[in-house]
Amino acid sequence: MSALIADNIHKAFGDHEVLKGVSLSVARGEVVTLIGASGSGKSTFLRCLNLLEMPQQGELAIGLHRFAFGKGPRAPKDAQLAQLREHVGMVFQHFNLFPHMSVLANVTEGPVQVKGMARADADALGRDLLAKVGLADKADAFPSRLSGGQKQRVAIARALAMKPEVMLFDEPTSALDPELVGEVLAVIRSLAAEGMTMVLVTHEMAFAADVSTRVGFMNDGIMAEIGAPEETIRQPRSERLKAFLARFH
Ligand code: ADP
Ligand code: MG
Repeated sequence: MSALIADNIHKAFGDHEVLKGVSLSVARGEVVTLIGASGSGKSTFLRCLNLLEMPQQGELAIGLHRFAFGKGPRAPKDAQLAQLREHVGMVFQHFNLFPHMSVLANVTEGPVQVKGMARADADALGRDLLAKVGLADKADAFPSRLSGGQKQRVAIARALAMKPEVMLFDEPTSALDPELVGEVLAVIRSLAAEGMTMVLVTHEMAFAADVSTRVGFMNDGIMAEIGAPEETIRQPRSERLKAFLARFH
């Protein structure tokens, strides 16, 4: 059963066509990693999956939500967008925490404001999630006092607090000092082990090979290759992908 189906997604900025018909179907519990050179459209594609960017053409199905773009009648309405975003958690390269709120308040803000959860319930949920990402003792700290790795783990807890069906990660470790990468990857790995459905953009090839059910190579706005990591990463077919992977050796 698919958790997410993106079909023939097109996105242009002005006359710059960034996504030229990208399709991806993600089964429940799958971890799909997207790799590819800078500018190939990976972030734009992720942002289309939770409609931070509106595709101009194509179809998207996530859970019970189904959208068709560029065809009028099934174009999403604002209320539907908000609903969809509740079901799709996103973690960015640069954390995007609320600086004026405690760590716990960062995590509980969504459940309280968007879902109307009672404060006490949200706090209990938030503390559970902070424990899960190894930050039980930081609930009352402010983001400015945390390391990058800790901030990113708060961002993951915050996304999980909305109980998403799918989690999207856009280069979650690219802004981190090397010694902090492992602690964030460990959290993502534990989510994978729990069966969370995830789409992940990363340049951590060893991690991708290890944790992914499939790896997709995006090149110039298309999904150029996709398959099991043993295929895509270990036995790339195209010269483009071979050249891309060679950079990581
Ligand atoms: P990647 O994540 O693979 O590096 P992106 O999806 O960020 O690639 O970007 C793909 C292309 O789309 C780039 O050329 C980028 O400059 C362009 N792009 C992305 N977002 C915007 C935007 N909001 N406005 C104009 N161009 C954009
Ligand atoms: Mg990007």
